[in-house]
Amino acid sequence: LASEESRSTATPMMEQYIEIKASNPDSLLFYRMGDFYELFFQDAVDASRALGITLTKRGQHMGQEIPMCGVPVHAADDYLQKLIGFGFRVAVCEQVEDPAEAKKRGSKSVVRRDVVRLVTPGTITEDKLLSPAESNYLMALARVRSGSEPAYALAWIDISTGIFRLAETAESRLLADILRIEPRELILPDTVFHDPELRPVFDVLGRVAVPQPAVLFDSATAEGRIARYYGVKTLDGFGSFSRTELAAASAAVAYVEKTQLAERPPLGIPERESAASTLFIDPATRANLELVKTLSGAREGSLLRALDRTVTSGGARLLAERLMSPLTDPERINARLDSIEILVDQPSLSMDLRDALRRAPDMPRALSRLALGRGGPRDLGAIQSGLRAAGAISALLSSADLAAELTGARLAIAALPGALLAALDAMLAEELPLLKRDGGFVREGASGELDEMRALRDQSRRVIAGLQLQYCEETGIKSLKIKHNNVLGYFIEVTAGNAGAMTDTDAGRARFIHRQTMANAMRFTTTELAELETKIANAADRALAIELEAFEAMTREVVANAEAIKAAALALATIDVSAGLAVLAEEQNYARPVVDRSRMFAIDGGRHPVVEQALRRQAANAFVANGCDLSPPDGPPDGSEGGAIWLLTGPNMGGKSTFLRQNALIAIMAQMGSFVPAASAHIGVVDRLFSRVGASDDLARGRSTFMVEMVETAAILNQATDRSLVILDEIGRGTATFDGLSIAWAAVEHLHEVNRCRGLFATHFHELTVLSEKLGRLSNATMRVKEWDGDVIFLHEVGPGAADRSYGIQVARLAGLPASVVSRAKDVLAKLEDADRKNPASQLIDDLPLFQVAIRREETVRASGPSKVEDALTALNPDDMTPREALDALYALKKEL
Ligand code: ADP
Repeated sequence: LASEESRSTATPMMEQYIEIKASNPDSLLFYRMGDFYELFFQDAVDASRALGITLTKRGQHMGQEIPMCGVPVHAADDYLQKLIGFGFRVAVCEQVEDPAEAKKRGSKSVVRRDVVRLVTPGTITEDKLLSPAESNYLMALARVRSGSEPAYALAWIDISTGIFRLAETAESRLLADILRIEPRELILPDTVFHDPELRPVFDVLGRVAVPQPAVLFDSATAEGRIARYYGVKTLDGFGSFSRTELAAASAAVAYVEKTQLAERPPLGIPERESAASTLFIDPATRANLELVKTLSGAREGSLLRALDRTVTSGGARLLAERLMSPLTDPERINARLDSIEILVDQPSLSMDLRDALRRAPDMPRALSRLALGRGGPRDLGAIQSGLRAAGAISALLSSADLAAELTGARLAIAALPGALLAALDAMLAEELPLLKRDGGFVREGASGELDEMRALRDQSRRVIAGLQLQYCEETGIKSLKIKHNNVLGYFIEVTAGNAGAMTDTDAGRARFIHRQTMANAMRFTTTELAELETKIANAADRALAIELEAFEAMTREVVANAEAIKAAALALATIDVSAGLAVLAEEQNYARPVVDRSRMFAIDGGRHPVVEQALRRQAANAFVANGCDLSPPDGPPDGSEGGAIWLLTGPNMGGKSTFLRQNALIAIMAQMGSFVPAASAHIGVVDRLFSRVGASDDLARGRSTFMVEMVETAAILNQATDRSLVILDEIGRGTATFDGLSIAWAAVEHLHEVNRCRGLFATHFHELTVLSEKLGRLSNATMRVKEWDGDVIFLHEVGPGAADRSYGIQVARLAGLPASVVSRAKDVLAKLEDADRKNPASQLIDDLPLFQVAIRREETVRASGPSKVEDALTALNPDDMTPREALDALYALKKEL
């Protein structure tokens, strides 16, 4: 499109279009034409398909018709929203001069146009385009090669709220960290994007990952660019950052500048997040546990939905963030738990706080729009109501007995400049228009001159009403009206039949000046009317100018207090999250977990938070609570013994998966700082949580289910530490029985002896239960069932021991398998069970040395140092020996064995 030929043969307008499009190749170009944004060529094809709008043609280019589609300017936001949702990026191109100017340059001249904004999924600020309860992160990934291992860092910014964070990461946890933060848009150097090693990561991310020229990520110029953005000389005051972190941060900032063109949204100071401070949850686990969305992608049914009782969008965002990044520091976790406990103990305080919070709008997002020059009167209104709600909340808290976190929140609110709210109250009217150009948002009494202009305008309107009466009398036409439209301004209108009466006297002719003839009406004006018109227009113009000035001044004042407002907004969100979790704890009967640095994992009466609520909604049987104890069995609670593993057997539908997941979810909830669905819980912080549950189908990527299962299992066995919690469901199911059993067997041994983590292992292989005889910290547990009249009843109760049967046939019968098939299966099973008694697997435990034992033997050899033979060998120097001496030495060595 951008070729020389293409340009030279284009019409002047197309030439301009092609030029602008060429500098925005990766965005759809919204090209302003009158009341429409028009799209051409491939853009038109893509957009019409995505938006379901008609594709037409406009003119020709190089002998081909040009595909075109258009969206009306007034509805552009809705279309933008859809396109952004599909992952498109849009360059908005406006006319940047008056058409009259262009005409002056010559009749063929096109109006000058330019891209005024790039709308990308990660850099939007409009309320319509954002979801209130979700953060909207732009993320930059940088890689710096210095030593042998490349270093990676992530920087993420929500320009709609000003949050700016940084973290170092590693190739092995790259995807996990990215998914934890769930950016809308990830920019990265094209060299990294095309690195074949990292291909799988970016395949998963799909459209979210957007390669950018590598220069954007240059670490040499990074510090300077960030400093310039904040208008500071050096970054020393911000803390210390690695080169990789700086490269990522500066790329993010550069991209914000690039998309916002002239404007600089106010960003908070970059905050460092260390990998060790958050619970590491690998991507498969995050997806399988359905933390923020279900496996099918729905928000409903996720853990977040089940826990969310917040009443503000800031609170909802903070809760989601806490859930995505649970902590590992018991002090910080307990500080959060303290807040909840305080509020659980004072239900009326939580209720009052929540009432006040409901009136607090989204301050950070309003603030960001104001700072970007995209704000309207309602954004000022949002700050006003937010500050007022903050005042009310501060009053509620001042008399209460608070924990540290809430005291901090109260202080942040107290630091708000009181004068700002007073100024907003003094300025803003009760009802606010959406657009500032509509005027009418400054209250009466705020400005003497404005009141005067408005009085003049209103008074003139009264004078006009008087004139109408006067003209009616003078002409004797009762139906004479003075009207107003945008083309003529004020005019007198009479019916065609009455028009004659207007000008049949000399006085009338001198007075009424004809303006327009309509089908059945005639329009006139008078000098008086024209003068009044000018007066009104002037007064209205002046009034609007005064309002706009007031708007700008107030916006400047608000933006000058951005830091304090953001801190207060975060405080409100924190209070909302604590009060919401307190309400939840009360309503669902949750308990405060004990969280410390031990290796305990002792849950009493645990429940699955999502299943429990779902069962209750269906008014079905109540959820059966189950305990779980993975604490080091004996020995010191510091866990030097290693954590315990439960091997869980039981029939299908018995509740194994539910039990596995509930314990993982309880750990996550405890570490995000929430009460937990249990009678009591004692959890020594978990550093990494791994799970391999259910069959996440990855067939689309061409990997078999079994392959996926093995890849995930490998990751767990390689990465789990003695502080980790590992949940494995049905390992080895996707292959032949003996293969599967062997893999499961070896995996349990590895977890017990090498990883030494706390773990739950659900399996169909009953043969594995014999392992508990040899592995000291492994115990068997089973889902209890009752057999009754050949039927099986699931009790959903976990008890010690192993399941004696799998009840597969009974379950199949319940599912409606034909009776003939069920009875045939019973016969087959009886034969198989008979054969099974001679099964080699049942003798394994006696014949096979334990996995770790084999390793230990090698280790002992190494630990006891070099042997005599080795010493003697080291002492020999073959170059100094005759063949005879060498032969003697060889005999001597042989004797030592
Ligand atoms: P499995 O993994 O053993 O096949 P699931 O965990 O999928 O079994 O549970 C089977 C069914 O039993 C689910 O529909 C679940 O809602 C129900 N269920 C599981 N655990 C409980 C429980 N503790 N109390 C009540 N119902 C339960």
